[in-house]
Amino acid sequence: MERIERKKTLAVQVGNIKIGSEAPIVIQSMTNTKTTNINATLEQIYQLEAAGCELIRLAVPDMPAAKALEKIVVKSPIPVIADIHFDLKLAFQSLESGAAKVRVNPGNLGGHDKLIRLARRAKQLKVPIRIGVNAGSLEKNIINKFGGPTAEALVESALNHVQALQSIDFHDLVISLKASDVYTTICAYRHFSKLSAYPLHLGVTGAGPLYAGIIKGAIGIGTLLADGIGDTIRVSLTADPVEEVKAARRIIQSLGLRKFMPELISCPTCGRCEIDLVTLTEKVEDMLKDYSIPITVAVMGCIVNGPGEAKEADIGISAGKKRGILFSYGRAIKTVSFSDLLGELKREIETLASTAAKQTEGI
Ligand code: SF4
Repeated sequence: MERIERKKTLAVQVGNIKIGSEAPIVIQSMTNTKTTNINATLEQIYQLEAAGCELIRLAVPDMPAAKALEKIVVKSPIPVIADIHFDLKLAFQSLESGAAKVRVNPGNLGGHDKLIRLARRAKQLKVPIRIGVNAGSLEKNIINKFGGPTAEALVESALNHVQALQSIDFHDLVISLKASDVYTTICAYRHFSKLSAYPLHLGVTGAGPLYAGIIKGAIGIGTLLADGIGDTIRVSLTADPVEEVKAARRIIQSLGLRKFMPELISCPTCGRCEIDLVTLTEKVEDMLKDYSIPITVAVMGCIVNGPGEAKEADIGISAGKKRGILFSYGRAIKTVSFSDLLGELKREIETLASTAAKQTEGI
């Protein structure tokens, strides 16, 4: 299969995580607890890390939140990013509190002088800055010039801030150009990536609740990743942030850019299907949560067509009314009664998992 050729960007180090260059696409999310509630915030960070989150951003709306970061960063298992709007003092305090990266929205920070002052301190501490341009808070002169928050407006705003920081030889930068309109977002990133080699944080802002948000995020982020654009992603959802991480993993794995879990193929069913394939597929999906091996597992709805329709699967089941078959790469390997089908599949997956573990250990 043809692989995606990723655009080469500059590398930025955020704590122990590298963004850009040839580093894997990094998954990030944002807590929705009060940052001043240190225990609740840490609890959410632990949950997110367990789900696969690699960088975590925290809102810093006031000075107590900026100071709370100090206690959070030492206990967080993943690097902590401070999210700053409006008040530069909060960015300075976040740096002193040990944030591994600071995200600023220059559109509401109040001019390049302030941004440059922040960058000078960040440079001393070797902390990168994300220039997080947002369609909802672009500078007035840019809105007037382009007649609205267009893709070109987002790019011009980002370039202006980048150039201001380049003037003091600051290059420890990650850039984002987010809009809630998916196509505007795609166009902005495509255009910017032609003009700059700084690593890009991808996201569609204000994407909405779980179902709609995942679709918008997958189209926006997925299209760009398929173009080879993007170094770190956040799927914005009005939902439990753990869902953002799960969605991000799926998007990245769907494009073959990283492997986190078994890939599940299941057929859409049709009039040939004689069983409740939805329930069977849910059971297999649940079973696969215990594995992290990069195999493809298929669940198909009829014995005759199923194996052939899922030829790429390492292992699969096709179910008929009373019996089903286990198959591998389109070839039947065993016929079993319907009631034994799940158990047989689990045994085969266990075998594949232990073979994979032995290969990893070099046995
Ligand atoms: Fe229909 Fe069988 Fe194909 Fe599923 S595998 S869509 S049941 S023909």
